[in-house]
Amino acid sequence: MAKFKTLQDFYKSKEWRIFRMSLIAERGNKCQRCGKIIARSIDIIGHHKIELTPENVNDATISLNPDNVDLVCFDCHNQEHGRFGYQKPKSVFLVYGPPLAGKKTFVRQQMKRGDLIVDMDRLYVAVSMLPDFDKPDNLFSNVIGVHNLLIDNIKTRMGKWANAWVIGGYADKFKRERLADELGAELIYIEASREECYARIEADERLQYRKAEWRGYVDKWFEQYRE
Ligand SMILES: [Zn+2]
Ligand SMILES: [Zn+2]
Repeated sequence: MAKFKTLQDFYKSKEWRIFRMSLIAERGNKCQRCGKIIARSIDIIGHHKIELTPENVNDATISLNPDNVDLVCFDCHNQEHGRFGYQKPKSVFLVYGPPLAGKKTFVRQQMKRGDLIVDMDRLYVAVSMLPDFDKPDNLFSNVIGVHNLLIDNIKTRMGKWANAWVIGGYADKFKRERLADELGAELIYIEASREECYARIEADERLQYRKAEWRGYVDKWFEQYRE
């Protein structure tokens, strides 16, 4: 049963207060970001790196995990959350590699709540209501339209996100580097060999009737790929 019904319940709880005091006793009254001494312990803020939500607040491996909590000063905390005019520069990542290399898994591990994710497969799901391996050709121009709008949003840094992740094959070196340049993005290559990709097709139950089609996508990527 959920002990804390709201985030406020949690922050008022004995568990959180004791946990926070024990962190302060252990780490001292210094901001872990800027190193400033924080005179009054009431001004030391316990910041959760994985942001607390009503869904995860009852999971002690997130809410009461020392590895997930930094002790910071008021200024650094506002900066962290981009509040009150503190604007952190936005970061953009272009995550590329062959089909089934694990690009989405990688982004899921690295992203934070509130990051902007741009991925053709997910946009297809949004407008077609079909599973993510089934992408009808007739919708391509609509999906790419939404995709390009989001790409433009990222180029102009439109919106309140802190990080954007653009996911795709991007086998062509020239196109990939030009896009990364236009986006001001860091390139992240998710590596997998052709054999590994084939093996994942074999192992993926959802693709059991589309093996030839997906091997075709893999072959096409490796034919176009330039390091
Ligand atoms: Zn600080
Ligand atoms: Zn925080």
